[in-house]
Formats: sequence, structure tokens, C-alpha cells
Amino acid sequence: MEKEKILEIKNLKKHYGQGEGLIRALNDVSFDVYKGELLVILGSSGSGKSTLLNIIGGMDSPSEGEVLINSRDISKFKDKELTNYRAKNIGFIFQFYNLIPDLTALENVMISISGKDAKQLALSKLKEVGLEGKEYHYPSQLSGGEQQRVSIARALVKNAEIILCDEPTGALDYQTGRQILVLLEKIAKDKNQTMIFVTHTSSIASMADRIITLRSGKIESIVENKDKKEAKDIEW
Ligand code: ADP
Ligand code: MG
Repeated sequence: MEKEKILEIKNLKKHYGQGEGLIRALNDVSFDVYKGELLVILGSSGSGKSTLLNIIGGMDSPSEGEVLINSRDISKFKDKELTNYRAKNIGFIFQFYNLIPDLTALENVMISISGKDAKQLALSKLKEVGLEGKEYHYPSQLSGGEQQRVSIARALVKNAEIILCDEPTGALDYQTGRQILVLLEKIAKDKNQTMIFVTHTSSIASMADRIITLRSGKIESIVENKDKKEAKDIEW
């Protein structure tokens, strides 16, 4: 069966600074993302992972190249289209959760949706990520793992086409990190959710359908993962 492309990344470049200080954070990166896949982008610190994810998420713009969603280049989007793209197509899960401290868990999830059933929807997502009973807690009253669950609920509640995860276990202890991986894996599987997950931890890549290795802003390899492991069996 022909896999359906959801994103096409073409000859992406991102430079910072100039002259002697020029940094090529992304240096001619091209790949496709398929609907429903769990794609892990693996690379050491500074290899360009966050830069790439931020550009895909419409939070940063490339110096050159294209990010095509349904054959439309997001870097040509007007402000309003880009805001719309971020709101509708992209769910973002960050290393440090990025929750709003003076909003409750429920309010943090509701922030990404509107409409009269927003509250019901947010409550059901919080339940789905295992936070029943914590809906009215503020981030400071939640553990790191719980805060990451809130951020996962926030990404899920809008039914985004693509979920982007930037080192989502990076700030968590080992056990908690693994619980978060198990949750993300379940979401990817149950919902056939397209997910791009960046990490510097090579063993985490073993849960991927496909693994792209990034090195100094360039793609080193793109491989199908023939030996896919369950998150619960991954050790690092
Ligand atoms: P990773 O997420 O893989 O650790 P990043 O994408 O954050 O890597 O960074 C890639 C490179 O680009 C690094 O050399 C980093 O220092 C540089 N970089 C990232 N953001 C900026 C910025 N806003 N200004 C200047 N250099 C940056
Ligand atoms: Mg990073």
C-alpha cells in the first residue's frame, strides 16, 4: 500500500548569525513524513533537532527551503494562515511542558480549544492521560510527569494532525520518563496519530516506525525500524 505523505520537508536551511559566526543549524534537510507514523529524529545536542521541529510547527521560519503540508508551503503562509495552521494542525509537547503557571490543569488544556463543549472535552482528555482528580491543580501542585501529561492532553484535545515532541522525557526521571513514552506510544497506536519525536537518546529511537539521524544540521541516515520495541521494554 502506498503510504500517504502528510508533510514534505524540502531542502530546508536555517542559518544563524553571519561571517565568522555563521551557524548552519540546518543544512539542506529533506524528508517526507507519512500519515500515522511515529517518526523519531535522533541527534546529539546542537544537531538542529529543535530548530527543525520549530520550523515544522510554524514557530520559526527557515532561511531557505519548504515545509509542505497537503502540498502547501507553510513558509508562504500569511500570519493568519500560520496561526490557523499552528492551532489546527500542530500539537506541541516540549521538554519543559510550557504550561501557564497561573492556570489550572483544566484551563491549560482548554486554552487550545473553543466552543461550548470545550470543558467536557478537556476533562475527558485529562482523564485519558491519567489525571482524573487533578483537574483543578495548578502546575506547581503537579509533579513533572503530571505536568507533562497536562501538556499531552493540551496537544491532543484539538485533534491536531501532527504531534511534535521535543525531548518530552528530557526533564523527567527514568521511571516517569518511561511512563510518558508508554502514554505517547499508546496515543500513536490507538489514534494512528502522526507523531514526530526528537531525542538525543538513541535507545528511545527503537520505539519508532522510522528513524532519521541528524548530525550537524544534516541528515545522516533515514531508516525503517525493523526491530520496533515497545516503550515499556526500552532502557536507557
Ligand atoms: P538541538 O535541539 O539538536 O540541541 P538546536 O536546534 O537547538 O539543536 O540548535 C542547533 C544549532 O543552532 C546549535 O548550534 C545552536 O547553538 C544554534 N542555535 C539554535 N537557536 C539559535 C538562535 N536563536 N541563535 C543562534 N544560534 C542558535
Ligand atoms: Mg533541542
